[in-house]
Amino acid sequence: MLKLQVRRWSERPRVLLLMLAIMLPAAALIVASAWHLHTLQREKGIEAVYQREYLHVLAIAEKRIDERAYKMTEEIRVKFPAADQPEDLESFLAAHPNVSHAFIWTGKGKFEFQSQPGMMEEPEFREESKELSSNIAAWLDVMSESYLFKVKKMETGYGHRALMDDEWVHKGDKMQYLSVAYFTPLGSSTEHPALAGFIYDPDFMAKTFFPQALNEVVPDEGHNDSSHPQPAITVRTAKDQTPIAASTCWGGSRPEVERPFDGVFPGMILGIGLHGTTIADISRRFARQQFLILGALSLLMAAGMILTYRNVSRELALAKLKSDFVSNVSHELRTPLALIRLYAETLELGRISNPAKHQEYYEIIRKESERLTSLINNILDFSRIEAGKKEYSFCQTDVGDLVRSTLDSYRFEIEHNGFHFEQKIDSDLPPLQVDREAIARSLLNLVNNALKYSAREKYLGVYLYRQNGSVHLEVVDHGIGIPAKEQPRIFEKFYRVGDPLVHNTKGSGLGLSLVRHIVRAHGGEVTVESAPGHGSKFIITLPVQASELQQQEAVSA
Ligand code: ADP
Repeated sequence: MLKLQVRRWSERPRVLLLMLAIMLPAAALIVASAWHLHTLQREKGIEAVYQREYLHVLAIAEKRIDERAYKMTEEIRVKFPAADQPEDLESFLAAHPNVSHAFIWTGKGKFEFQSQPGMMEEPEFREESKELSSNIAAWLDVMSESYLFKVKKMETGYGHRALMDDEWVHKGDKMQYLSVAYFTPLGSSTEHPALAGFIYDPDFMAKTFFPQALNEVVPDEGHNDSSHPQPAITVRTAKDQTPIAASTCWGGSRPEVERPFDGVFPGMILGIGLHGTTIADISRRFARQQFLILGALSLLMAAGMILTYRNVSRELALAKLKSDFVSNVSHELRTPLALIRLYAETLELGRISNPAKHQEYYEIIRKESERLTSLINNILDFSRIEAGKKEYSFCQTDVGDLVRSTLDSYRFEIEHNGFHFEQKIDSDLPPLQVDREAIARSLLNLVNNALKYSAREKYLGVYLYRQNGSVHLEVVDHGIGIPAKEQPRIFEKFYRVGDPLVHNTKGSGLGLSLVRHIVRAHGGEVTVESAPGHGSKFIITLPVQASELQQQEAVSA
């Protein structure tokens, strides 16, 4: 007993230590993740990652747009008239509707400028043509050398024959951005250097060139759920916030990250943003999601801890019940054995001459061996049930008869113990399919308990009657009773109420668990109604089989 006690106490801290060994690192991990997430949120780490990523996308976008622009310019440049054929500018413009103006500079004051003839009726365009022609002429007269050098460098350094530049003209109260391609035309030489160029139609650039180029970089994937927001790229001039062009999925919001063009379109700015959301939103959502996951994990961990603790406590309680069971059973076995031995030895010595005494001793030996048998039967039944090997042999039985004969063999003991015994068995009971021995054992267990747990008022009542399609077997006592909170547990194996009155009474804690198993195997149920100090009533309910009901109905019809 002492050994068992010591083991129980050393087990609890070990189990707790084991739980802590698993839970502590997990909790540390959760706390560290939460802290990391908090820092990330405070330092806007997620936003920074997005911004870096977007700048990278913009750099790629610019490179693609540049390539496209150089390719288009080169295709137009090869068709450009030679330096000494400025009269061909008109036909060149007619063949290239995307070009608004074209010019050839062959020396100071020698400048030819042509604009799309079809558009010259528009006053705004005429103004634009005039302004450009005078600006570029004046500009080239002063800067021709520098431009010639830059064009040369472009060719030798980067393999492009044209130099792209920007030009701004007045348009109403705003400035219009124009994209100019400069190059040396056929016929230009070191002695007679010439510069030529053309200017793209800004409408074509805004409505065709840029949208196509941008959609190639960020194609519209058709979906736009909040978990996968699609990025959109815009192009604007440095002098206006409103984009001149954007990829298809642009929703109209301001771009979140911007990057000025380096090469082909100086003065233009590329921007990128998300459709229907912002980086800050995404970052907030991400953080919220992660915090929720961490919260759920913590809850799961806490639930796991509680479950483990409860399970372990239950196991420990069961271990305690088992050890109590062993000591109770040993005690229960030893007492009848000692009595049997004592009375058998006394009889063997032949010193008793009084026949009444003889009779009394025989009776004691019989009763004690019966007690032993019933205890051993209980234990054997229990071990069969635990091993899943308990078998029942059901046969058609007159239950009234079975209860009567079981109680008859016990009646003497009941009354001998000073109990007021009441037995009421209804006569109109239908026969039931039961295992006779198992039902008799259940009844004896209940009767035995009633005898054991009745201190002052010694009363035992057994009633057998039919109610609502079931046969009820009631065992009633006026004994110590059972507290309400203990009642659901008394049918558990090894369980004994922790009342000193109970602990002074011998018992194994198996009786009621056997009764419940047996009754359930018969398709019935056992219940208890009890109040401390007022006695208990155990009711076994056995269903009347369907076949029996049918039989009875047939007879009464
Ligand atoms: P035991 O061998 O301890 O009697 P049982 O399984 O038969 O084991 O009963 C379980 C517990 O239920 C008992 O220990 C006792 O506390 C309580 N009990 C059972 N029957 C009665 C009763 N008739 N009156 C009071 N308490 C009872």
